[in-house]
Amino acid sequence: MKIQRKQSVVLVPLPCQGHLTPMLQLGSILHSQGFSVIIAHPEFNTPKYSNHPEFVFHSMDDVLKGINISSPSLENIYDLNENCKVPLRNYLVKKMKEEGDQLACIVYDNVMIFVDDVATQLRLPSIVLHTSSAAYLHSMITIYQQPEKYFPFEDSQLLDPLPELHPLRFKDVPIPTVNNTVAEPVLDFFKAINNIGSSVATIWNTMQDMENPILLRLQEHYKVPFYAIGPFHKMAPMASSTSILQEDDSCIKWLDRQVPNSVLYVSIGSQMRINDKELTETAWGLAKSDQPFLWVIRPGSVSGFQCAEALPDGFEKMVGERGRIVKWAPQKQVLSHPAVAGFFTHCGWNSTLESILEEVPLICRPFLADQPVTARYLSHMYKVGFELEVIERTVIEKTVRKLMLSDEGKDLKKRVVDMKQKIVVGMQIDGASHKNLNDLVDFISALPSRLPPPTPVVGAFDTSSKCIRES
Ligand code: UDP
Repeated sequence: MKIQRKQSVVLVPLPCQGHLTPMLQLGSILHSQGFSVIIAHPEFNTPKYSNHPEFVFHSMDDVLKGINISSPSLENIYDLNENCKVPLRNYLVKKMKEEGDQLACIVYDNVMIFVDDVATQLRLPSIVLHTSSAAYLHSMITIYQQPEKYFPFEDSQLLDPLPELHPLRFKDVPIPTVNNTVAEPVLDFFKAINNIGSSVATIWNTMQDMENPILLRLQEHYKVPFYAIGPFHKMAPMASSTSILQEDDSCIKWLDRQVPNSVLYVSIGSQMRINDKELTETAWGLAKSDQPFLWVIRPGSVSGFQCAEALPDGFEKMVGERGRIVKWAPQKQVLSHPAVAGFFTHCGWNSTLESILEEVPLICRPFLADQPVTARYLSHMYKVGFELEVIERTVIEKTVRKLMLSDEGKDLKKRVVDMKQKIVVGMQIDGASHKNLNDLVDFISALPSRLPPPTPVVGAFDTSSKCIRES
């Protein structure tokens, strides 16, 4: 039977794997709720259209052709924001003519700052998507509201608590620093990406049951409705791949040959890089742990090397069949495989949720941005992970063995199972994510088709019906 579609929504992702994936998942969620979904994306890292026949795609000329931005700099992101303005505006003008009131709103990744300007000019309601945890945003806002309280700090303070940000330490500051201080343009950038402008609501790939107090505080700050409807990858009805890189499925056959609950999965996501020293320490740590492992070494992820050729001499011979290296894995499938017992991760938010939802405890090796915040919460609040404080082979070896073999490791496993159960309850009818999704659908359906002039201010909408409920 053909579903009678509600209005259309336009989604604008940041074209990096960890942001593109949740936006496409959100698209699937909204599509399953009866909306027509248009993905207006920059050309860079174009999603695979054939994996998502349910969406209409529109490619915006981002004028970044030929620039290697596998891991975009601030400048690249500003360029992306500047260059996509006119293409998006032109496209929306055309769409608004074609669809009239049927075009309900535009949802954008919070890093695609320009979208709110374009939407405001056209009086189209806009909604911000946050692809990370609420704890990350809260820590950023707290820091940049009073930077003098945090910067500069001394090396001797690295393990001291960050004022007002328990359980974080100076080491976990989520804003990039040089010599323990932060540059003004960097601070400005973080302020810009967290300014929701005249957007009328925010959507979160997180769970109220996990982050309720922080979500409430943030909602008070932003004064617009918040919809925490995560975990997207489980709320989305379709499991189609969102990978930009080619997934190497052969590792699943290798996992099939392993003993249940025996393999450590190792990956630092789509953007982080390590140097050859860290590669060597990790390699020997894994080898000496004596545990089977599946290791993703992404091309370009070891500075100065193409791929796994940077591995130390004798390593492959020593691990033999016990270790498997791939360039890119079907991660969700890997984490759900019965052979996988642990995840050595950089603590990207998607990887974190994917791991928890498969009941896989973690070894946290965070690099920057939200990762140190997530690692700290995983290891010290939720207690489902061990944080690796030193990147050194014997420490890695011991931590892997602790995770895989010790009673402490078993305790992590129990807690991650509990945590997953709570999240699953939130996804069921009457659960928070489920209810918040229903509220979001009602909210979008009831949006005025065009905002009244002059530029609306936050508060023009009824924010009294709080979406994040106090519990
Ligand atoms: N991923 C994958 N295969 C890999 C490594 C990562 O499919 O070999 C996916 C992973 O499932 C996750 C995304 O890439 O959805 C990485 O996002 P995350 O937020 O964890 O980290 P980021 O890449 O943004 O640092």
